[in-house]
Amino acid sequence: MAKGKKQPKRILIVGGGYVGLYTALGLQKKLRSLEASVTVVDPQPHMTYQPFLPEAAAGSIEPRHVVVPLRKVLKRCHVLTGRVTKIDHATKTATVEAIDGHTDTVEYDLLISALGSVSRLLPIPGLEERGVGFKTVGEAIYLRNHVLSRLDLAESTSDPELRRKLLSFVVIGGGYAGVEALAELEDMARYAVRYYDTISAKDMRWVLVEASNRIMPEVSAKMGVYTVKVLERRGIEVFLDTRAKSLENGHVILDDGTEFDADTIIWTAGVKANPMLANTDLPLDQRGRVRCTAELQVEGLSDAWAAGDNAAVPDLSRTAEDPTATCSPSAQHAVRQAKRLVPNVLAALRGKKQKPYVHKYQGSVASLGLYKGVTDVLGVIRLKGFLAWGLHRAYHLSRMPTFNRKVRIMFDWLGAFVFRREVISMGQIQDPKTEFTRAAKS
Ligand SMILES: Cc1cc2nc3c(=O)[nH]c(=O)nc-3n(C[C@H](O)[C@H](O)[C@H](O)COP(=O)(O)OP(=O)(O)OC[C@H]3O[C@@H](n4cnc5c(N)ncnc54)[C@H](O)[C@@H]3O)c2cc1C
Repeated sequence: MAKGKKQPKRILIVGGGYVGLYTALGLQKKLRSLEASVTVVDPQPHMTYQPFLPEAAAGSIEPRHVVVPLRKVLKRCHVLTGRVTKIDHATKTATVEAIDGHTDTVEYDLLISALGSVSRLLPIPGLEERGVGFKTVGEAIYLRNHVLSRLDLAESTSDPELRRKLLSFVVIGGGYAGVEALAELEDMARYAVRYYDTISAKDMRWVLVEASNRIMPEVSAKMGVYTVKVLERRGIEVFLDTRAKSLENGHVILDDGTEFDADTIIWTAGVKANPMLANTDLPLDQRGRVRCTAELQVEGLSDAWAAGDNAAVPDLSRTAEDPTATCSPSAQHAVRQAKRLVPNVLAALRGKKQKPYVHKYQGSVASLGLYKGVTDVLGVIRLKGFLAWGLHRAYHLSRMPTFNRKVRIMFDWLGAFVFRREVISMGQIQDPKTEFTRAAKS
């Protein structure tokens, strides 16, 4: 670089999920040549489209199609596969730990924190050992294989108690993630049992446990009640105002005195901001989120931004009724905040004024299994059943990043419609060395 020439600024995006991917896509398109370089760091080499995880778990979509490979789409960015373990904004450095454990220091000029959230666990005995979250594609694939392999095991045992345990499935947490995971997995298992001689749908026990008095706070109370009815009509037991007290050894004890054994416990009772943020010098609120201005700038810093689940962004659409309101953790906000971040970061680079983020939450669409759904748009368009399910698919397909992924998902749906679902457990993937070790010993 010739002396006196401006060095390109180094933009570091920490996290390649919704916010990270969309922001990087926008910046790589809009940045002028040599204006800035963009580095994205994420422990996964892909972005995960989380709203499609329930369909991936149910086998309606190929798991590889609900993720977007970062290197393939971020051709003008530098992608690092590793976990950021520390950010020292005072010295503008981030520590990155690679999968093999070695660490590197990355220097930057501008920072975008897009670390998302993680499952919020409670101190319930047995939860950590027996529970499985539902936030990653790994968990979705694991649960699919696990549920199907419970059917295989139940068919192959003559012990009635063990069989009952194997065929009992519990989801704890009734937000959209929990309800969709439960509804899709139950739907898949209900379809799968036709291939088993000794198992019918009524032999399975599916249970939803929710601590508050309603499920799906993302839709209206009326739609929440409707969803409970739909689930109960399918034989799913819904416990409202109920908490899990113990899950030790798969023995579920609820605080209303109900007790039963279950071999599958899915934990979807809330998320919290990425705890890595505690290892940074960024200002955090009492919920551990990065405190931001409405322009998505980190409070007090002109060269750092945050958005999505890890950020406390003022919700300007609600400040009239509650001046402290912040945006809820949702894909709807994450995607739109990323779209606002791009011009704001460019404005900062070019010495222009940044604009605030304003978006009124538009409601939710949720799938309750094949051809079943519930939709609540602005409290005006409330749909149930097939129409709601169609809207859910259309909406999420339109939001899925890249044309390539959209087309692949459409082919998955078409294939599943023509040839019906695949209900094979590929549980071996979870333990690939077993056969090889057995062969070595023989
Ligand atoms: C099953 C499910 C269904 C959902 N359905 C809906 C829905 O229908 N509608 C809706 O609006 N929202 C939905 N959501 C919520 C939505 O997916 C999130 O709000 C959204 O993903 C938030 O985007 P984000 O970029 O903040 O975080 P994420 O998309 O989670 O991205 C965070 C990224 O940071 C990376 N990361 C984590 N730690 C580190 C680290 N130390 N260093 C570097 N990178 C790191 C992660 O690997 C990840 O890629 C759903 C969520 C789930 C789990």
